[in-house]
Amino acid sequence: MKHGIKKMGFVKTVKTLTMVNQKAGFDCPGCAWPDPDHRTPFEFCENGAKAVADEAMKATVNPAFFAKHSIQYLAEQSDHWLNKQGRISHPMILKEGENHYSPLSWDDAFETIGHAIQNLDSVDEAVFYTSGRTSNEAAFLYQAYVRALGTNNMPDCSNMCHESSGKGLGQTIGIGKGTVTLDDFNHSNVILVIGQNPGTNHPRMLTALRDAKHKGSTVIHINPLPESGLQRFKHPQDYMKLNLKTTQLSDHHLQVKIGGDAALFKGFIKVHLELGGLDEAFIQASTTGYDALVASANEIEWADIVRDSGIDKETIVKIGTILGKSKATIACWAMGLTQQPNGVSVIQEVVNLLLLGGHVGRQGAGFCPVRGHSNVQGDRTVGIWEAPTDAFLDKMEQGLGFNMPREHGYDVVNAIRAMKDRKVGVFFCMGGNFLSATPDTHATAKGLRTVDLTIQVSTKLNRSHLVTGKTALILPCLGRTERDVQSSGNQFVTVENSMGVVHTSTGTLKPASPTLLSEPDIVARLAQASLKTLHLDWKGLVGDYDGIRDLMEKSLHGFDEYNARVRQENGFALPNPPRDTRSFATKDGKAHFTVHPLPDVSLDDDKYVMMTIRSHDQYNTTIYDVHDRYRGIHGNRRVVMMNASDMAERGWKNRHVVQLTSHFQGETRTSGQWQLVAYDIPRGNIATYFPESNSLVPLNSTAAESNTPTSKWVIVSIDSHHTQHSGHEEE
Ligand code: SF4
Repeated sequence: MKHGIKKMGFVKTVKTLTMVNQKAGFDCPGCAWPDPDHRTPFEFCENGAKAVADEAMKATVNPAFFAKHSIQYLAEQSDHWLNKQGRISHPMILKEGENHYSPLSWDDAFETIGHAIQNLDSVDEAVFYTSGRTSNEAAFLYQAYVRALGTNNMPDCSNMCHESSGKGLGQTIGIGKGTVTLDDFNHSNVILVIGQNPGTNHPRMLTALRDAKHKGSTVIHINPLPESGLQRFKHPQDYMKLNLKTTQLSDHHLQVKIGGDAALFKGFIKVHLELGGLDEAFIQASTTGYDALVASANEIEWADIVRDSGIDKETIVKIGTILGKSKATIACWAMGLTQQPNGVSVIQEVVNLLLLGGHVGRQGAGFCPVRGHSNVQGDRTVGIWEAPTDAFLDKMEQGLGFNMPREHGYDVVNAIRAMKDRKVGVFFCMGGNFLSATPDTHATAKGLRTVDLTIQVSTKLNRSHLVTGKTALILPCLGRTERDVQSSGNQFVTVENSMGVVHTSTGTLKPASPTLLSEPDIVARLAQASLKTLHLDWKGLVGDYDGIRDLMEKSLHGFDEYNARVRQENGFALPNPPRDTRSFATKDGKAHFTVHPLPDVSLDDDKYVMMTIRSHDQYNTTIYDVHDRYRGIHGNRRVVMMNASDMAERGWKNRHVVQLTSHFQGETRTSGQWQLVAYDIPRGNIATYFPESNSLVPLNSTAAESNTPTSKWVIVSIDSHHTQHSGHEEE
């Protein structure tokens, strides 16, 4: 309520919060946790309320605001300050060499973009980024436009988050998505929560865990940090029933060392193989690679497992036994696994463990990579993909009726490398805050500043509006909460949640400004302004989004009778062979066991491993406030959570000011003015908040195969602040 009333006022708060995640309402622009079929009157969590309030806030950033505040002045403000200035109300341009944004008409904006794109030497000098809030309809039109232009340069935010999950699962079970339903949680024996902090990042998941526990499930939490959400949980609506009891959600917390998950899961696999509980029939009939897995498990020494995981053998055997006895196990994970150098292979260790027990395509069992952005999974499904398969493009070509570019494009890290190499002339962002979300902030800033024209489709002010190309445009769009009226009337859009369910989202609020355009409309005008051959009736498609969905039905697998099925009460589930028929769309139709060496997680004595994390008052790079209530940290975001014994060893106390230097392939990056906080974290490990610490994450430090930045594995040294360092000095 505090966030709601402060930003929207009382009446709008009640009106808005009674519409979020409701069947006739709009989908929460926060994470992608699914809605239960039976909604409660208040179907949102605290962070969902913050996300909605943040979008539906009354304050606006209009031309007068930009006339008053120069780029220099704005750049000196904090991300929190920038975010709370309000909704951007008009299209704005920052001309080369100027110090203030100035307003321009939509027509002039699209003419500027069309001109820039048509003057490129090659279409591959244009890059089109997508943030996970973009609806299915906007994302589908966007990819159709970019491919009509002739490139696959479509980096998106999942390159930085669950790309490792897509690769890890795709190679082993034939689909790059989770295989469980929300109801499976109620039929599970064991739920693993790995490298994830649901209390802050997917809060309604806590309700599913509570309900599962009430049905007898065991929750095992694997995380370097003892996150409150899994320690003591209280469902806000229980107070209305005067039920004051709190629920201890995690039955076991394994405080694994950062990067120690692979060793831990190899330990569980050894226990499983030694103690039994194998689904022999499933292994025999539906998998391949079992013998190689057994051989590799026998070779691994317990001493290495204990050293690298930081967990003693007795505990691993105890938990391994619980897992071995389970008839239905669900594995949930997030960035703690995906943003590791071995992100893909550690996820495949989780797959190995669950395949041993046949925990896929069975009620109460399966894989659950939890998506942190409301439609990031949907965007990939409908074509936001820099490396699409030929089969995907064949279907798209069939539906759209024009040739698809086949050469793979840039993902996020490669797009930054291309900018640094001055290979990008136009950079278009559909939402997001590219500068702050990406690693190696200074490298990204340098890259962006080489681009002739950068364009941001945005709702709110952020740092990517301040570190731009030579010329920059801001195109303000409608938010998820707002009414979207086109020539055929009110429109709804669709999104896909973490469990592959596609459902509607209908904005109900009056738009923050009459000059805003919807994302699909922005794409259609972009196409008309920059395509030499239109191929599609862009204007017509925007007039009635049913037309876009009809095109999607023809161009994508699994969207049959799209318009009819998505209007069903709870939408529909996309095909998922492992879940639906326990079958695997891999080359040989089998689920694959895989063998990976133990990753090298050794550290020099004077080094630490840093992981970047979110506070409770932020959503991705959006900073709602400067507190982290669940961790007891208030009023400062430049903090280093460090083990008290490590601090004592250095003679440091709480609030001691330090500077951090990251080390990677002989390069160093330094960032100063950090305050130490003694925290319950394994020795040799530290945690900091992003985006502030992203400047320490080396651009070239990425996960094998997925190229995901290793934001959860950054080697750093720590010194008292007064020490000077060479390398990338913080501005
Ligand atoms: S759990 Fe996620 S989707 Fe649900 S209300 Fe909270 S932030 Fe929004």
